[in-house]
Amino acid sequence: MLGKGTKMYSIRKFKCPHCQEGEFFVSHVYDLRHVGDVRETCDKCGVHYSKEPGFYFGAMYVAYALGVALFVTLWVSFNLFFDNVSTGVQITVIVLATVVLAPFLFALSKIIWANMFIAYDPHALDVKEKGAH
Ligand SMILES: [Zn+2]
Repeated sequence: MLGKGTKMYSIRKFKCPHCQEGEFFVSHVYDLRHVGDVRETCDKCGVHYSKEPGFYFGAMYVAYALGVALFVTLWVSFNLFFDNVSTGVQITVIVLATVVLAPFLFALSKIIWANMFIAYDPHALDVKEKGAH
């Protein structure tokens, strides 16, 4: 389920959704000057990462879902595993976790969004090689 050819592979490794070889982002997720900057095309298979202008605005819905999932996970954990955590502490931890994880969740939302629209093609790289010869 997590191997090459699955969408999870591309999402986990931040790789091109089409060939799963090329890099998806300009830089590391926590390189704050380039947070969430997606490359224009894949350097391996040449697929365009933006299908249309403003394509990644839709990733906001994914980011929202990830944010809610994080909040619910933390909130449920507090109430299941800890007896006396005050509301103030819970809010502080949730806000801190959200801020610290924000660049990661932002990047994650974009790669998930891209994977919803760009299909994996095991022969993506063959085609390009044939064209070059
Ligand atoms: Zn590619």
